[in-house]
Amino acid sequence: MLRAFFVWLSESRALRAVAERSSIGQQTSSRFVAGTTVEDVMAATRTMNDLGLTVSIDNLGENVTNPDEARQSAALYHRLLDEITARGLKANVSVKLTHMGLDIDENLARENVCALVAHAAGCHNFIRVDMEGSSYTQRTLDLVRELHRVPGHEDTVGAVIQSYMRRSRRDIEELLAERIRIRLCKGAYKEPPELAFQRKSEVDSNYIELMKMLLKSGVYPGIATHDEKIIDATEAFARDEKIPPDAFEFQMLHGIRRDLQQKLVRDGWRMRVYIPFGTEWYPYLMRRLAERPANVFFIAKNLFRR
Ligand SMILES: Cc1cc2nc3c(=O)[nH]c(=O)nc-3n(C[C@H](O)[C@H](O)[C@H](O)COP(=O)(O)OP(=O)(O)OC[C@H]3O[C@@H](n4cnc5c(N)ncnc54)[C@H](O)[C@@H]3O)c2cc1C
Repeated sequence: MLRAFFVWLSESRALRAVAERSSIGQQTSSRFVAGTTVEDVMAATRTMNDLGLTVSIDNLGENVTNPDEARQSAALYHRLLDEITARGLKANVSVKLTHMGLDIDENLARENVCALVAHAAGCHNFIRVDMEGSSYTQRTLDLVRELHRVPGHEDTVGAVIQSYMRRSRRDIEELLAERIRIRLCKGAYKEPPELAFQRKSEVDSNYIELMKMLLKSGVYPGIATHDEKIIDATEAFARDEKIPPDAFEFQMLHGIRRDLQQKLVRDGWRMRVYIPFGTEWYPYLMRRLAERPANVFFIAKNLFRR
């Protein structure tokens, strides 16, 4: 019930507007968000790189309703790519299509992301297109495939698949047939039973099946989870199948299970941290609270400590 409540909160535009402007809201978000400026996220990226972790940077924002806003968001991503290159950081970027204008006009989003992928190809970087709610799944996968088909962009753009979606096995087969890189996660939105598994046990066992397909594919997957059982299963499968540690990477979110992130690196595995930054943190934070409502107490404790 609490999960549903926080997912519902994440979709409330009115609460979002109030929360993002309040100073208490900004303090609250700091546990999961690396500041509001490009400088903040570059510093957080450097810290992670120094610890042996790579990064994917996410400029927070989604469901923009104005074309200028979408173009400004794309411009910020161009700046991120330049800053990463200039500073020699080990980081790529993660982009949401609704941040690039998908709700306004599919062509606008296509134009924005296409230019970003071309820019990333020019600086040997990579654009990960995040996966949003199910009403965007097909359009997102279609666009990633279209961008990936452009000559010279083969290693420059990748997709995300959610193990709670019933369709995911088929989607993975199709993406792997074109050698499109995939990040596998459980999925963070509220979906109906006809589209998505509802029980954690089903989501987890599907995750493990899909993880095995990805590891065997040789198409450099990202195994994005904080779930220790799944991480153990991935390590065991890689060892049994003699899949080398540089053939895939684990991925986790900024501020979550930092102990485990560093342990994996010490054990010789690759680890990428997804670092969000920016002022539009409200839906992101609500989704993190939905995953673990106990975070409310954790955040409250930190607020009172200040
Ligand atoms: C790198 C990365 C990229 C992602 N990209 C997407 C995307 O594009 N689309 C999408 O729908 N979802 C995305 N997600 C979110 C994902 O779908 C899950 O909602 C999220 O990762 C929680 O699932 P879990 O695998 O950690 O397992 P869970 O079963 O949710 O959690 C397992 C354990 O992890 C820890 N944990 C998990 N979440 C939290 C939290 N919020 N706070 C504290 N501890 C926690 C707890 O110890 C928990 O017991 C991404 C996640 C990661 C790590």
